[in-house]
Amino acid sequence: MQLTDDSGRCLPKELESAPRRKGRAEFIKFLRGEYSTQRELIIAKCFDCTGFYEDGAVDCGIVTCPLYKFMPYRKTPRNQEDGEKA
Ligand code: SF4
Repeated sequence: MQLTDDSGRCLPKELESAPRRKGRAEFIKFLRGEYSTQRELIIAKCFDCTGFYEDGAVDCGIVTCPLYKFMPYRKTPRNQEDGEKA
């Protein structure tokens, strides 16, 4: 079945074959114009930014990105960052 947005427009074909990783459903929800929480939007952005995780569910390693703290596959737990208390 072709994925479509709320106007019936087809969503990018790549999404259909994209791995079912964290952020996929949220990215589709965003493209459809449905309500999303801040967290959903962040993981959707990471899904998009990594090319739909085509290379696997791995840490992007971009520690300078403002969203890195919330990257779903980051290796370092959030409470182990410099200057952040557990
Ligand atoms: S945290 Fe990484 S994957 Fe997420 S938006 Fe930033 S650079 Fe992209």
